Amino acid sequence: MIPKIAELDVMSPVYRQGHTNLFAGLCHAEFTRADTSFATFLGVHDGLFTGSIEALASEEQKAAWLPDIYSMKKIGAFGLTEPLGGSDVAGGTRTTARRDGDNWILNGEKRWIGNATFSDWVVIYARDVADNQVKGFLVDTKTKGYSATKIENKIALRTVQNADIVLDNVVVSDDFHLKGANSFKDTNKVLKVTRLSVAWQAVGQQMAAFDVARKYAVERQQFGKPLASFQLIQEQLVQILGNTVSSLGMMVRLAQLEDLGKAKDEQSALAKAFTTARMRESVAMGRSILGGNGIVTDYGMAKIFADAEAIYSYEGTYEINTLVTGRAITGVAAFV
Ligand SMILES: Cc1cc2nc3c(=O)[nH]c(=O)nc-3n(C[C@H](O)[C@H](O)[C@H](O)COP(=O)(O)OP(=O)(O)OC[C@H]3O[C@@H](n4cnc5c(N)ncnc54)[C@H](O)[C@@H]3O)c2cc1C
Repeated sequence: MIPKIAELDVMSPVYRQGHTNLFAGLCHAEFTRADTSFATFLGVHDGLFTGSIEALASEEQKAAWLPDIYSMKKIGAFGLTEPLGGSDVAGGTRTTARRDGDNWILNGEKRWIGNATFSDWVVIYARDVADNQVKGFLVDTKTKGYSATKIENKIALRTVQNADIVLDNVVVSDDFHLKGANSFKDTNKVLKVTRLSVAWQAVGQQMAAFDVARKYAVERQQFGKPLASFQLIQEQLVQILGNTVSSLGMMVRLAQLEDLGKAKDEQSALAKAFTTARMRESVAMGRSILGGNGIVTDYGMAKIFADAEAIYSYEGTYEINTLVTGRAITGVAAFV
């Protein structure tokens, strides 16, 4: 599908194409409404991977790499999470980078890395043993010592390929050290933006749940009448709609703040936590409206329900984004 996706020319709507963050967010919600796995594939290649290069590479590096990335001749992945470092990845990154003349030597493991089974490149975040800071490197996946193994048996995002990565003395030229990626604060610049696009996914996921549940309720007959004619069913449809519209309203305002350059980290975190919590309620009600048919894959809702669980947990879990927001409003960190 990748050549066909490339023809759509949807890459980098804000940085390259000059669209507003509102336009980009609404597109991402609509991609998710159509298929969450598609939106996640694009979110990894365009958001996390390309976003890392746009935000953290030097002008020279961008000129050399971005054309092939935008045309999707090269597909990318974003390697931050580790088997032992999930929520505490900021302090818990164990993958190491050691400077060796004009090269860096990378060693360690990454987990959950989307697209990494087939991508050409992956941005690896690794801790420099010299100054203990997390730095970013563009790694060619054909490099000796790099291997990626597909994580099997996922119940969510079934067409997204996530990988366990092993880096065994992988040699990377200093030309491929992202010049602006020199501490976790730099990595956070990427996450602030991509966290918002995941919150937009939560909007799209609820739109999809509403679409399927409403259609089913109007068509399915019980007690000689459509489900939609029962007050209790209408109440659930209205709750899904209310959750969706409140999530959308929050995201529209945040996109306006982003366009003004005023969105803060904690606002991204609040949006991710709030919209995904509403999403979880909405997809559960949607699934219930389909009764037994809500748990079989033929009706669409089971996929929407399961994919929502991935959105709830990636890009900082509900709890971690709540703690980021809690720290901002109280001045007290409650992570440990
Ligand atoms: C489908 C999918 C795709 C992904 N894609 C990528 C990718 O492309 N690149 C990448 O780098 N990563 C990716 N991730 C990783 C993702 O960001 C992590 O899964 C996420 O950050 C959570 O880490 P963890 O799974 O290790 O859970 P853990 O950190 O082990 O957390 C387990 C539970 O404990 C809770 N918890 C942890 N610490 C605290 C605390 N201090 N207080 C309260 N509760 C806490 C969490 O909220 C969670 O409920 C992906 C994950 C999934 C599932």
